[in-house]
Amino acid sequence: MTNLQIADLQTAAPIEKIALERYVAPDRPSFVGMTRTELADALGAAGVPEKQRKMRVQQLWHWIYVRGVREIAEMTTISKELRAQLAERYTVARPEVVAEQVSADGTRKWLLRLPSENPGERPHEVECVYIPDTGRGTLCVSSQVGCTLTCSFCHTGTQRLVRNLTAGEIVGQILVARDRLGDWEGGTPPTDGIVPLDGGRYVTNVVMMGMGEPLYNFDAVKDALLIVTDGDGIGISRRKVTISTSGVVPLIERAGEEIGVMLAVSLHAVRDELRNELVPLNRKYPLAALMDACRNYPGLSNARRITFEYVMLKGINDSLDDARALVRLVMGMHAKINLIPFNPWPGSKYECSDWDQIEKFSEVIFNAGYSSPVRTPRGRDILAACGQLKSETEKLSARERMALRAMSMTE
Ligand code: SAH
Ligand code: SF4
Repeated sequence: MTNLQIADLQTAAPIEKIALERYVAPDRPSFVGMTRTELADALGAAGVPEKQRKMRVQQLWHWIYVRGVREIAEMTTISKELRAQLAERYTVARPEVVAEQVSADGTRKWLLRLPSENPGERPHEVECVYIPDTGRGTLCVSSQVGCTLTCSFCHTGTQRLVRNLTAGEIVGQILVARDRLGDWEGGTPPTDGIVPLDGGRYVTNVVMMGMGEPLYNFDAVKDALLIVTDGDGIGISRRKVTISTSGVVPLIERAGEEIGVMLAVSLHAVRDELRNELVPLNRKYPLAALMDACRNYPGLSNARRITFEYVMLKGINDSLDDARALVRLVMGMHAKINLIPFNPWPGSKYECSDWDQIEKFSEVIFNAGYSSPVRTPRGRDILAACGQLKSETEKLSARERMALRAMSMTE
């Protein structure tokens, strides 16, 4: 069943198909993303007696997160009668996939459609990107539609925040990726693109580096990541899950204590004056406070380091003085530095640093004893890179708005 109904408007044939779709909200909530307590309550509402609920929750958990079923009817260890009873009220639906793009380098991008909270309004769209590498596959997950923050080099920052994703929509991105990659027991992997074929799983790592600031959607991100790392379900180790934050200082410690995953911090500048400009949240939480929070991040060790992300902007933050200051800033911390080549987007005011400058910058850091891999741009042909997620869709929406306007004028 689809949540979308396509209006039958023959005359509008040349106009983007998407412009003719009207969203119909799902009539039943999905179990995906519910905590165990919420599942138990949902079972209670469906008439399951209290003493059975714990066992039933275990069964649901297994079917949803180990077996990846897409219909309650497939949960064959549960009686047919109870399955029917549950299916009357609930589903195991994930976000709807509206498009899939596969890059020449095997990177895959899915465009997902999410309901708007206002009935009848256009649905929202977010993207989720899979980056395969030898022996591992990383899924880049979104936490919000758009972002309230306005980092000057980030395309997401130019988009109006529409809303926070629910825990189900965050976990749903992992389920969608595994559905599409045939990453469930007995699944059939795609024939195109490159996937890690070492006999293991395809989605081995999760990074909250898609659209949005994950710490500004703390509760949903927490519920979702506790599900993703739960050993009875998806079971991805906490060390293979990373939250990337632009520096929401008061929530960094809580993230460590309550979620316990790895932390990446979008640093991008080593002086407050410049960071205020690149990452305006710095005006609220300046570098000294941010670095303190990082030093106190629970559970840091040699094997569990904070990643500092540093986008390379030509003539802005890429001098060797900056590199030395960066080293001084992280000195003594369990840290690694990830240099990200800037991904330009239409209208962006920066350029990516020259390659030899990136190399020299990286050398200064490496010589000081810190690992400083340069993140290889992946999936550029499908605009799957950081800061570009959904940019194509935004353009599409602009066309769509024009098309709709033209339609309303001729009506
Ligand atoms: N909001 C969070 C997570 C999403 S952004 C954060 O800011 O950390 C994920 C990473 O991509 C961040 O380090 C961000 O600074 C970086 N990024 C954003 N736009 C970019 C661009 N155009 N080029 C390169 N990296 C970019
Ligand atoms: Fe938001 Fe992160 Fe982009 Fe900044 S870099 S605008 S925090 S998504």
